[in-house]
Amino acid sequence: MSLLQVKGLGKSFGGVRAVDGIDFELAAGELLALIGPNGAGKSTTFNMVNGQLRCDSGSIRLEGRELVGLRPRAIWRMGVSRTFQIAETFASLTVVENVQMALLSADHKLYSLWRPAAAHRRDDALRLLAQVGMAEQADRPCSVLAYGDVKRVELAIAMANEPKLLLMDEPTAGMAPRERNELMALTKRLVVERGLAVLFTEHSMDVVFAYADRLIVLARGRLIAQGRPAEIRDHPKVQEVYFGT
Ligand code: ADP
Ligand code: MG
Repeated sequence: MSLLQVKGLGKSFGGVRAVDGIDFELAAGELLALIGPNGAGKSTTFNMVNGQLRCDSGSIRLEGRELVGLRPRAIWRMGVSRTFQIAETFASLTVVENVQMALLSADHKLYSLWRPAAAHRRDDALRLLAQVGMAEQADRPCSVLAYGDVKRVELAIAMANEPKLLLMDEPTAGMAPRERNELMALTKRLVVERGLAVLFTEHSMDVVFAYADRLIVLARGRLIAQGRPAEIRDHPKVQEVYFGT
């Protein structure tokens, strides 16, 4: 059985059918790209999966359990994590403190109590940072990091609840090609080594074709194609709607 099963998912804003009854599945250990032109419904789909937006039709199941109707925090606790298009960390805290805070949050501790309680999670935080190649920079304040390194810290934070599914909205936006490739190679390693499932949106076709195991293509809220990168590249509907040829 797939980790994530989405069926008949739909959402309207006023008269706009932003997402129009889409079906897709995602397995553990799979990197699935969600692509499509601006306004296709990618972000709306994401926000329904993580519970920030309520869908108006359909079902979203994680290991068979319905996510529709649950609050974002409950969905996060079930193992769905996310990163943001513009990476955010607490700039006034150090790298390792940011991750310790995320670990405490996963431990059901109150944010306000984090400082005294954080000490014993430092080793765990360092382990997460080592996975993203940031352990040596653990005690630097986040405010001084290069953007590519902030994205790495964000990834460590996103891994703090030991997610089964990670949603990444345009993970490589604003990054230089080298940083992009490093971040995606790192993500791919988490997918392969930990069996993490990743759903990501991406504008760079180079990144999509280099790293995605499979693609789903949205256009005007509809899923117009899905398949392996090579299948999608040559798909006539995709050429027409997405690449405008
Ligand atoms: P994408 O992420 O693929 O660019 P979105 O999911 O952001 O697309 O948007 C899909 C459609 O829904 C667009 O027509 C957009 O204008 C509309 N839309 C998205 N969010 C809202 C909102 N909060 N209120 C009104 N319309 C929205
Ligand atoms: Mg978007």
